[in-house]
Amino acid sequence: MSDSFLPFALPDIGDDEIAEVVDTLKSGWVTTGPKAKRFESDFAAFLGDRDLHCVAVNSATAGLHLALEALGIGPGDEVITTTHTFTATAEVVRYLGADVRLVDIDARTFNIDPAGIEAVVTQRTKAIIPVHYGGLAADMPAILDVARRHDLKVVEDAAHALPTTSGGALIGTLDSDATVFSFYANKTMTTGEGGMLVTRNASLAERARVMRLHGISRDAFDRFTAKVPSWYYEIIAPGFKYNLTDIAAALGLQQLRKVRLFQQSRQRIAAAYRGALASLPLVLPPEPLPGDMHSWHLFVVRLGDAATIGRDAFIERMFAVGIGCSVHYVPLHLQPYWRDRYGLTPEQFPASQRAYERLVSLPMYSRMSEADVARVATAAQAALAGA
Ligand SMILES: *Cc1c(COP(=O)(O)O)cnc(C)c1O
Repeated sequence: MSDSFLPFALPDIGDDEIAEVVDTLKSGWVTTGPKAKRFESDFAAFLGDRDLHCVAVNSATAGLHLALEALGIGPGDEVITTTHTFTATAEVVRYLGADVRLVDIDARTFNIDPAGIEAVVTQRTKAIIPVHYGGLAADMPAILDVARRHDLKVVEDAAHALPTTSGGALIGTLDSDATVFSFYANKTMTTGEGGMLVTRNASLAERARVMRLHGISRDAFDRFTAKVPSWYYEIIAPGFKYNLTDIAAALGLQQLRKVRLFQQSRQRIAAAYRGALASLPLVLPPEPLPGDMHSWHLFVVRLGDAATIGRDAFIERMFAVGIGCSVHYVPLHLQPYWRDRYGLTPEQFPASQRAYERLVSLPMYSRMSEADVARVATAAQAALAGA
């Protein structure tokens, strides 16, 4: 093996990020402070909507938890989400003592099936958490319509969806109750660990701000700058420790400036893949609707019916020639905790099950070169050729 390992994902961090972090370290203010605040206002500016409140948190999981908590989700309630996601989407519902109703996906887009949502709504249903799988917008008009008709809240898991659009509007600016982005290491921009809760609802934002830092009614930065005694604070609830540090926010400030360039790189890589893989027995991922943007967080292919090897063998062969692949996801209905709690079987989720058995996430990150794409395609061809 002459080539170096080609990973499945890689953060794109440059000198600007490094300088901003060093500046933070030298400033003396390393935890939540002026840069976290600026990151929130820059994020709102990026989304381009003055009515949005942005609440920086230390993970998307934290943001989803805070959004549901602020919406009053609790024991006895049910929240609907997709089986074809990472466990974080669903586990936050259990943190609050509510229950999860998993729904199958659309076989083409791998996004939650709106008809499947409608089929499991009960008197107990309080909210829907759609996921924009891989960076392709879920069918938000249909989901928001179901939500309106049944008086349900909508919290978008937008961990993959920066920047993604639906009906020409950026995810984060739609008519849902809250949207949560992730800045985990392998996402389209990163703060190492981090997330952003976005909402138009001022009281939801206020509750999330309080609960992200121990239930303190004013956050640390305000305490040290506002004209009240600096030592005084009030605890109004048993809150969490979900604040984003200024070190992480420093990364975020610089990453956010490049996020459109990152998307353009990813889109170019997706197009190059499309050409390079065209003749192989692979089903390529769907394009966004005309006029819409795909973040291309993931480039997920399915082994076609003509493929003579299985998914596991394909990944093994790619790995043997130094190419990292992944699987998004082992669906929740197969995971012991979710399967056993709700007595789930693969037959209840035929589209997700079939997708899971055939899908592979190929390497996708903004710094991939055309040569990297060609190398992946050549390796894929060889892997699929050998029976
Ligand atoms: C990464 C991810 C999360 C969790 O994000 P963190 O920032 O790591 O908490 C949630 N949902 C989906 C779909 C993800 O891919």
